[in-house]
Amino acid sequence: MPATEEPPTAALREAGRLMTICNACRYCEGLCAVFPAMELRREFAAGDLHYLANLCHGCGACYYDCQYAPPHEFAVNVPVALAELRAQTYQRYAWPDALSGLYEKNGGKVALAAIFAVIAFLIGFAVLVDPQVLFAGHAGPGAFYAIMPHNAMVALFGTVFALAIAAMTLSLRAFWRDTGGAGEEAVGSGALWRAMTNAGALRNLDGGGAGCMNADEQPTDNRKLFHHFTFYGFILCLASTSLATLLHYALGWQAPYGWWNPVVVLGTLGGLGLVIGPAGLLTARRRRDPAIAADGQSAMAIAFL
Ligand code: SF4
Ligand code: SF4
Repeated sequence: MPATEEPPTAALREAGRLMTICNACRYCEGLCAVFPAMELRREFAAGDLHYLANLCHGCGACYYDCQYAPPHEFAVNVPVALAELRAQTYQRYAWPDALSGLYEKNGGKVALAAIFAVIAFLIGFAVLVDPQVLFAGHAGPGAFYAIMPHNAMVALFGTVFALAIAAMTLSLRAFWRDTGGAGEEAVGSGALWRAMTNAGALRNLDGGGAGCMNADEQPTDNRKLFHHFTFYGFILCLASTSLATLLHYALGWQAPYGWWNPVVVLGTLGGLGLVIGPAGLLTARRRRDPAIAADGQSAMAIAFL
């Protein structure tokens, strides 16, 4: 069903109300990608608002700059309105549909499920193979697979990887259709490359240059920095795993590798990024102004980190 035929949610109505005010005001057009994109419309369909909500990084700059922010009667709070709508889009475009309800205020359950899954996973393999492997030292070629046999690792993580790619592809397709994207826009206009470079540099996560706003009204670029640690940490780990797969299958080299091997170097740097980034983001959350945080989303965000 086209998005415009659905009854609008309260979050959709509020985002539409604010974008109409902002479109008349346009004071914030230099702050991020939301405002120039907003200026391309006079009226906002649901797909337009879903798109705008996902352009917002929640830096808070437009809230601090806004002459119509509370206590003004217009009560303009763009970061909160777009964050609430954005949370609904995660659910709306999630695949498979049956699991989309998990996005709804289930942070504690998701965190507990993740913790118990890792514990059950390690203990389960140790019991299957030999409980002693958890307490013994392992060295030499093949030691890497003492707890989890190589083929089991490939089957399990290969399946998870394929499911993740399928989920992201199908979610993107639903988002693309809903927001009225055309095929030639993605491949022919350079838009895809610009989107990738903007995302890779987090170009719009700097509040127009000053940084993200904090409760003490001292903007900092910490969120951008820690997002970079997290994202590039993940990319380095992916590169490490991909290279290890190549060495294993193409050259027959069995893990573990020496500390100097690019697999280990990339994986170590990536692992550090994945520790520093989320830890820094958790710390940065504590400085955020509660006025620009959407209700009920903290637990999910913390669980995700
Ligand atoms: S957030 Fe406020 S100041 Fe900025 S464009 Fe909207 S109404 Fe204008
Ligand atoms: S919170 Fe930041 S990213 Fe979001 S609309 Fe306002 S200025 Fe743009």
